[in-house]
Amino acid sequence: MAWFKREVKGIITTTQEKKEAPDGIWNKCPECKKPLHYSEQVENQYVCHYCGYHLRIGSKEYFSILFDNNEFTELFTNLRSGDPLEFVDTKKYTDRISETTRKTGLKDAIRSAHGKIEGHDLVVACMDFNFIGGSMGSVVGEKIARSIDYCIEHKIPFLMISKSGGARMMEAAFSLMQMAKTSAKLALLGQAKIPYISLLTDPTTGGVTASYAMLGDVNIAEPGSLIGFAGPRVIKETIKKDLPKGFQTAEFVLEHGFLDFIVDRREMKEKLASFIKMLAA
Ligand SMILES: [Zn+2]
Repeated sequence: MAWFKREVKGIITTTQEKKEAPDGIWNKCPECKKPLHYSEQVENQYVCHYCGYHLRIGSKEYFSILFDNNEFTELFTNLRSGDPLEFVDTKKYTDRISETTRKTGLKDAIRSAHGKIEGHDLVVACMDFNFIGGSMGSVVGEKIARSIDYCIEHKIPFLMISKSGGARMMEAAFSLMQMAKTSAKLALLGQAKIPYISLLTDPTTGGVTASYAMLGDVNIAEPGSLIGFAGPRVIKETIKKDLPKGFQTAEFVLEHGFLDFIVDRREMKEKLASFIKMLAA
């Protein structure tokens, strides 16, 4: 009897027939795999309320978390990447840029804005990983440089939120020059006695770690962030030794003296505001 006996083995639903919740409403925590509803994520500042995992977010979310009433003025919005090397890999660099802009609504891997945090003026430059892996090209370097000039001119503290895979390959040496440019500008900011807070988020690697991300008057990180210069495989092959457990996590980096604090994102605004009050005094 066909009713009692399963004739077809397994129940197979093709991908097209599967019914799924609309994109973006539910999200699975990458760490504990529990489902998170979008509104819960927003309420909990994009931290998993089961395991405390800090979801990767972009400038839009960081601005909304940090700035009072989500009010800010975006700075230097007209900067776009050139293509001095006429670079082509699997596609033309110019096509990659316009395609990524169309997909993400972003013009490059960083946005800078002036707003208030608990009533104190602050300029925040925040990287976006969705834009070519948060890679540091000329636009990233230039926006940071101009943000620092703006901070010096208006005597406002500077917060840099890093999230990056490092240099932008398609800009080769032009990308590497941004390390020197941003570092020199930060030295001027220091001379002007204006506080610089660097916040390292998951992941902060390569030339970004090797320049502005580690140059803060205070360097802080979100828990569990990957922070490093070269990837673990490259290091392992170079030193021919196994790497210690937890290598390149924020916690490990803190223990070895490269960070001042690890701050939970849910306490970030309050902590930053108290730093700013303290540093400005
Ligand atoms: Zn979780």
